[in-house]
Amino acid sequence: MPSTTLSTSSSSSNIQDDDDLQNMHHHFRSKTVCKLNCAHCDNSVCARGMKAMLLADTRIELYSTDVPPFSYVVQLVGEDYMTQNCQCKIRDVACLTCGNVLGYHITQPCQQCMEACNNGHLWMFHTEAVTSEERLDPEGKKILLWAHLPRAEKDTEAVNSEDEYEQCCR
Ligand SMILES: [Zn+2]
Ligand SMILES: [Zn+2]
Repeated sequence: MPSTTLSTSSSSSNIQDDDDLQNMHHHFRSKTVCKLNCAHCDNSVCARGMKAMLLADTRIELYSTDVPPFSYVVQLVGEDYMTQNCQCKIRDVACLTCGNVLGYHITQPCQQCMEACNNGHLWMFHTEAVTSEERLDPEGKKILLWAHLPRAEKDTEAVNSEDEYEQCCR
């Protein structure tokens, strides 16, 4: 599955996206939304993170997200490779500001992971490579849950207000 299927460009996919969110397993819907920063340079890398466990090895915790991080924030580095856990093809993701490897992108999910109860997220961040902060609802009062998170293309905080955020918070 190419990563382009996750892009937010085509309007015909909007209905499908809604279905996806509604069909998301309640286990995932009740999870909090995290904002992730690079642990090394504190660059903001993701506003839609979810704390998750590796399907192939549930002792390993990581953060995952459903949308590709901005191309000016991270970059895919090196070649696709496989781990001993499963047959997924993955590629490392590095912070463009400091060069540290933050996690990886699943470029081709394996059968085993597709059939498992997965959250559909193809971008992973190592817990030791990022710092996380619970994201609040638009009023800033309650911790935001995935069940209440707008889908990616309607999520202004994750999609197009990043520059304003940078300006007012730094
Ligand atoms: Zn796999
Ligand atoms: Zn960094």
